[in-house]
Amino acid sequence: MKCRLCGRAATADLCAYHQAAKERVETAYALWANAHGKIEWKDYLDNVKRNPQTGQWAKEIAELLGGN
Ligand SMILES: [Zn+2]
Repeated sequence: MKCRLCGRAATADLCAYHQAAKERVETAYALWANAHGKIEWKDYLDNVKRNPQTGQWAKEIAELLGGN
């Protein structure tokens, strides 16, 4: 299989890099909700995309999960 985001060889639909980024983004959502209060998943993904600290892998994941 190939990663649906970058086309690298992958064992699932995401390569190891994007899979790891996806797990980080999902984990960080719970941490964010604890630190800043409840936030909608879509709003959180928007934040991830706009945050200059967010790495390229995570941005691509946020775009994928956000559906746009
Ligand atoms: Zn990838």
